[in-house]
Amino acid sequence: MKSTMMDVPLSLNHLLERAGKLFAGNEIVSRLPDKTLRRHSFGEYYRRTRALASALQRLGLKKGDRVATLCWNHHAHLECYFGIPAAGGVMHTLNLRLSPDDIGWIAGNAQDRFLVVDDVLLPLYRQFAQMHRFEKVIVFPFSGAAVPPEFADYEALLEAADPDGFEYAAHDEDDPVAMCYTSGTTGRAKGVAYSHRSTILHTLVASLGDFWGLRGTDVVLPVTPMFHANSWGMPYGAVMMGVKLVFPGPHLHPEDLLDLMQLEPPTLSLGVPTIWMSLIQAYDAAQAADSPHHGRWKLPQGMRSLVGGAAVPEALIRAFDRHGIWILQGWGMTETSPVCTISYPRAELRAATADERYRRAAMAGVPVPLVDLRVRGDDGRDQAWDGKSVGEIQVCGPFITASYHEVPVEADKFTPDGWLRTGDVASVDALGFVKITDRTKDLIKSGGEWISSVDLENAIMAHPAVAEAAVIAIPDEKWSERPLACVVLRPGRTEAADGLDAHLLAHGFAKWQLPERYEFIDAVPRTSTGKFWKMKLRERFPR
Ligand code: ADP
Repeated sequence: MKSTMMDVPLSLNHLLERAGKLFAGNEIVSRLPDKTLRRHSFGEYYRRTRALASALQRLGLKKGDRVATLCWNHHAHLECYFGIPAAGGVMHTLNLRLSPDDIGWIAGNAQDRFLVVDDVLLPLYRQFAQMHRFEKVIVFPFSGAAVPPEFADYEALLEAADPDGFEYAAHDEDDPVAMCYTSGTTGRAKGVAYSHRSTILHTLVASLGDFWGLRGTDVVLPVTPMFHANSWGMPYGAVMMGVKLVFPGPHLHPEDLLDLMQLEPPTLSLGVPTIWMSLIQAYDAAQAADSPHHGRWKLPQGMRSLVGGAAVPEALIRAFDRHGIWILQGWGMTETSPVCTISYPRAELRAATADERYRRAAMAGVPVPLVDLRVRGDDGRDQAWDGKSVGEIQVCGPFITASYHEVPVEADKFTPDGWLRTGDVASVDALGFVKITDRTKDLIKSGGEWISSVDLENAIMAHPAVAEAAVIAIPDEKWSERPLACVVLRPGRTEAADGLDAHLLAHGFAKWQLPERYEFIDAVPRTSTGKFWKMKLRERFPR
């Protein structure tokens, strides 16, 4: 039977039109390279975005062409988010923290036709320019300096364009709008393409009250890079709801973020755990009477903070809550748009103790609507949701990728019935809370029993002398594998292995689960998206 409802495709263009009509007075703030703030209204944003789309069409952009961006988080990057798809193109965000070789390879693999690049990132662009020839390189004069004559000037293109006469490229809802590459923490980078439909559905679901809870009065600080899983999709939600955005630009050091929070206090922020760990350390250190920063900062009271991309230690959640900031943890992947689960206070937890609420907040959370989630054991059977049985998380839903760009579908990435194999190992409890214990590649099997590296890390990071901890497996003749804990101590603190062992025993770990040894290191290596990079630790400590 023909549908009884109107046949209207889901479209990002609708969100852009809506923002132009309804939210013209709301503000978008960007921090420039010189740290000054630049303000735009959504009205200007709307006109500039349509101007960009019109300019791209004039440059000859055809439907489905990839336009790469190599940009920090700022208003022009947001213009690309909507302007490129409006013209019929696919925005491909390049990760500026990758090596030039990797960026060049990825741009080639995606067959990117045009590039929009921040002027301050031209030195990086020049390092991979030989590897992939873009037909047009459009430079955004982020610093205000003149654009070198061999490139197109983003602002000049917008000025010469005709936003009023612009017409959206015809499309249907399954056409691609954006493309991200997996960051390749555990393997070669692969391209994932999102459609109008998947993006709209993801935006609606993630914005629900128990999750992001986006409100028109929100002020959102996206620290998560716009080149990392589309800043978790927040730019789309922000335009949908017309919320004020505060973009940090290239200034992501804790001191810079704290300064920005004083100027433009956010009600909602998002970033990976490592960012918030260093921020809270800088903040707490500034409370000491002899700190040069004493009295400089006040954390925004009542701010919600979305943290994900890696396990969020309970100690971090407690530390922020002491300052009136609640952390909402989410789990997902580039392949899943990315939000799949979010940890939020369910009705059943209304009477729960504070300890229980913290324990839940430190879990990956409950599957969001439209995402089906199962945990498959080694025997190929679904595990019970009993909070104990572990297996690989597999997911299925309308904003989860079914393929990778130009890569044949691999049997180890999808199940025969078409679910995505995430490579994450977890249990789920009766309330549907997912608890990630490891990535398949990080598992530690000792004497036939699994030891969760995430549990050990979280407990070690709860020790007052510890700033960071990452646990890896090392080979062992007798037990096959044993945990090795790499620990970064807080400045000025000392602690010996015995003290850490005693701390773990007091936290309920059995003797056989204790690390075989501790390595005290200066810093845990980070991936291009700011996560702990265990592969590097495994290379450094092979045994
Ligand atoms: P990469 O796979 O290269 O790290 P992604 O950004 O797509 O790139 O990362 C997705 C992975 O990050 C997940 O498969 C999972 O291992 C990890 N992850 C994301 N969120 C969480 C979380 N809340 N807890 C634990 N791990 C997480």
